[in-house]
Amino acid sequence: MADQEEWTVRVDSEACLMSGLCMSLAPDVFAVRDYRSVALTDRSAPDDRLLEAAEFCPAEAIGIHRLPGGEPVLGIG
Ligand code: SF4
Repeated sequence: MADQEEWTVRVDSEACLMSGLCMSLAPDVFAVRDYRSVALTDRSAPDDRLLEAAEFCPAEAIGIHRLPGGEPVLGIG
């Protein structure tokens, strides 16, 4: 069986502007804690909703990185 690609998901909660975009796109991945967005999981299978959230986050607060190397797929560094 071929290895399944895996991503890490990270939110810079300090930078979050609470637009709500990420939560509306992927409510199973992003949620509100203390008036800021957080990632409910730090790992995900490749998911276009996460790319959309990272691309359109007005605070550029979402980072998606590819495992195992950790190179950015999109978003924060
Ligand atoms: S899209 Fe960005 S600014 Fe909006 S709630 Fe999510 S992390 Fe915060």
